[in-house]
Formats: sequence, structure tokens, C-alpha cells
Amino acid sequence: MPEPRYRVAIVGAGPSGLFAAQFLTARNDIDVDIFDRLPTPYGLLRYGVAPDHTSIKAVAHALARVFDSPAVRFLGLVAVGRDVTREELLAGYDAVIYALGASEDLRMGVPGEDAVGSRSAREFVAWYSGHPDAEPQSLTGVTQVAAIGVGNVAVDVARILIKEPLALDVTDMPADVLGELRRARVSDVWVIGRRGPQHASFTTTELRELCRTPGVAVSVSPDAFDGIDESLLDRRTRANVAVLREASAAETPWPRVRLHFLFWRRPVEVRGDPVRGLVVERTALDASGRLAGTGEIETLDVQLVLRAIGYRAVRLPGVPFDELLGVIPSEHGRVLDGDRPAPREYVVGWIKRGPIGVIGTNKSDARETVEQLLADLAVMGPRSDRIDLLDTLAARGFVPSSYADWQRIEAAEANRGASHARERMKIELWHELLDLVQSERPGGPIPPN
Ligand code: NAP
Repeated sequence: MPEPRYRVAIVGAGPSGLFAAQFLTARNDIDVDIFDRLPTPYGLLRYGVAPDHTSIKAVAHALARVFDSPAVRFLGLVAVGRDVTREELLAGYDAVIYALGASEDLRMGVPGEDAVGSRSAREFVAWYSGHPDAEPQSLTGVTQVAAIGVGNVAVDVARILIKEPLALDVTDMPADVLGELRRARVSDVWVIGRRGPQHASFTTTELRELCRTPGVAVSVSPDAFDGIDESLLDRRTRANVAVLREASAAETPWPRVRLHFLFWRRPVEVRGDPVRGLVVERTALDASGRLAGTGEIETLDVQLVLRAIGYRAVRLPGVPFDELLGVIPSEHGRVLDGDRPAPREYVVGWIKRGPIGVIGTNKSDARETVEQLLADLAVMGPRSDRIDLLDTLAARGFVPSSYADWQRIEAAEANRGASHARERMKIELWHELLDLVQSERPGGPIPPN
């Protein structure tokens, strides 16, 4: 008798989902369907990793190899929870892996946060990355900007704002975004940490790159280094502190832009609508080591506030969710329903471990999950009553987009890039993406977005 073939669904075509697919296809008895709500794979590699970080983006080339396998299908324009239910997925597959990432962001919870000109770094990143859902961003009248948070996302948005726009010409940013950045007249960017440099979560390579941006004068709030015992710091943190000390001591004659690191300050109010100021309060650790306000207030004259204080995953209807941690609860990758494993359901990436770690972190994370999944399949075997989910969708007149559709989008982006002497230029408009998907389809309707 032939060995049974298994069928696994992965929900989300970002790095964590694709690493999982890589591990699954190392076996030759598993078919993998990778669902995404967009017609484009790669998730945060395409829409989160900064466009000027081309070497990290190159990971996409390696991950793309997974689609060479005849056992793998890309099923785009399918939003699980909207177009397909959890129950339908479970009926169609021997196992389901949720790889949805974290699509919302945390809020500061301060007055004025919703004013025009106060927004999440996620929205700003989505805009310059050419995400089809992104709102166009205007930098007209913006000379001073505050980025809240001292993690790598704050570093990314600060760098894009202070970089000489000509240096961004090599990226795949959409033409309108590059145009807006070229017209911008940003003179000062504040990066604001509610604790000290020794607590900042940015990685040293990213921090050094930001501080060494040509034409930028760096200052660090004078009290930032007070009380730091460097002998107690780990390697990364010690290196971060050294980079900040060195950058603030460096002379930059005739700077194009000033970059200010302001530590031990927390935002307490966004002033004006549209924004015309950010009120920050000086902070300190109290006797029990908790962060507390000192009551000492200052106002920064900024016209744009970007909060980069962390992402948050969104609940998928019917799937267990830990509201406090913003993750699908799991144990070694097996989804937990209460304290029991939910059969045939698994999780990888940020929706498993929270929004932490770099792209490569997802590899070991996916390996752990796939090992559990394979161990479980070996015990459970394939479903005897599996339905064909694509038939169910077709009966509703619903045709997912395919990997061939994505390749057509890619070719159109390469063409657009070639006419601007660039390798690629993103297509950022939904209707243009959908036109490219539809152009070769046998009349299958496109689902609404
Ligand atoms: P993050 O590293 O967790 O940084 C969030 C920052 O926001 C922290 O400094 C945090 O301070 C601060 N914060 C949180 N709540 C706040 C509040 N209410 N008010 C003021 N500050 C607040 O998160 P991230 O920057 O979003 O990055 C997410 C993950 O993606 C990280 O693992 C990051 O390394 C990764 N990433 C990597 C790259 C890269 O490799 N180039 C680029 C982008 C992102 P506390 O520490 O005091 O909480």
C-alpha cells in the first residue's frame, strides 16, 4: 500500500510561514497550501523590512525556492476568518499552521494620540513599503518629528526620514513615496525612550547605521548615561551605549539633519490637531525599580509623532487567543485550547511568541513547530474525511490568486523599475495588483477586499 499523503495549510505567507513550509517540504509526503489575504507572498519581508535593507530583503530570494516544489501552492486573496472559517480549514487539511504575524500596533494611551500627524510607525512603514492598504502620508509642513520607542522600528523610521533621499533611489519604494521623501524638509528627529540607553531594545548594527547616516548630527540627552555601570551590561547593550557615546561626541559640521536621542522621557500628551507639539515627562525608576514620572515636563515642537512602541496580533475568529499577551496560546508550537492541545492546530512566528526577534528567529521557531506537527501526524495519520477546500470556494464563485499571478506582479514591478533604472518598483495600488491578477484568469471573480 502507498504511504499516505498529508495536506497541511499555512495561514500567512510571511517569513515564519515560509520557513515552516520549507521544513514540511523536506519530506516528500506532504502537500502544503499557503494562504494569504494579499496576492503577494513574503509578509514583513516585503512590507516591513526597510526598503534600504536590501541584504535582509534578499532572504526572500532564498524563501522563494519553497514555491519551486510542486507540493506547494500559494493561495492569495484569501482572508482566513473572512473568506474561509477555521472549521472549513480544519476539515480540508490534516494540520493547520497559523503564521499571521502581528498586524496591529500598541497605543500610548495619551491625550491627542489620534490627532492628524500622530500615527503608528506601522502605518508609516506600510506607506514607504508600498503596502496596498497603506494611507498616503504627507510630509508637507513637517520639519520636526518624534519617534516614540527605542527599538528597531523607531530606528527604521528615523533612518528613512533622515537619509539623503538620493540614497533611497536604489530601493523598491513606489515613485510617489520617493517623491514625498524628496520634497520633505525634515530638520530634526527625536527618538524617545522612556528608560535609559542600557534598556533600549535596538540592535547595535541598526543603531550604528542610524548614527552614521551621512550629514546627520547626533545628540544624546546629557543625563542619559548617568548611573550606568557598564561592567554589568551584556555585550549588545554595552556596544549600544558605546555607539551612542561616540556619536554624540562626533563633530558634524553643517549638518543636513539633527538626530536627538532623548532618554528617560515618556510621552504624556500630543498637542494640537494637526499635531504641533509633544509633551514629555521626565522619568526615573522608583525605589522598587518601577518606572515613574517625576512631574518634570517639556514640550517638543514637532509636527509628526510616530509611535514605535510595539505590535500586536489580532484574534482570528474561533481560534484561541490570549488577549493579555496578544498571541495564540501554544506549547512548543501546538495551539492550546485552555490547557489542552487543540488537535491539528499549530502556530509559528509573532502570533506564537509575540512581536520580537528578527527574520532569522523565525527559522528555529518554525523548526520547533514542524517537529511537533510531524510527531502528531505520525500518531494521528491523515484525516479520512478530508474535503477539498478549493472546491468549496469554487462553489461560492471564489478563486484564490496563484503563484503565477504573483510572478506577473513581480514582472510588472521589475518593468516599472527598469524604466527608472532600478531593479524593481513596488506596485502599491489595489486596483493595479488586481488587474494583474485578473489579466490571465479564466473569468474567476476576485473576492472583495
Ligand atoms: P521593541 O523592540 O519591543 O521596542 C519597543 C519600544 O517601545 C521599547 O523601547 C519600549 O520601551 C517602548 N515602549 C513600549 N511601550 C511604550 C510606551 N507606552 N511609551 C513609550 N515607550 C514605550 O519593538 P519594535 O521596535 O516594534 O520591534 C519589534 C521587533 O522587530 C523587534 O524584535 C525588532 O528587533 C524587530 N525588528 C528588527 C529590525 C531589523 O533587524 N532591522 C527592524 C525592525 C524591527 P520599554 O523597553 O521600556 O518597554
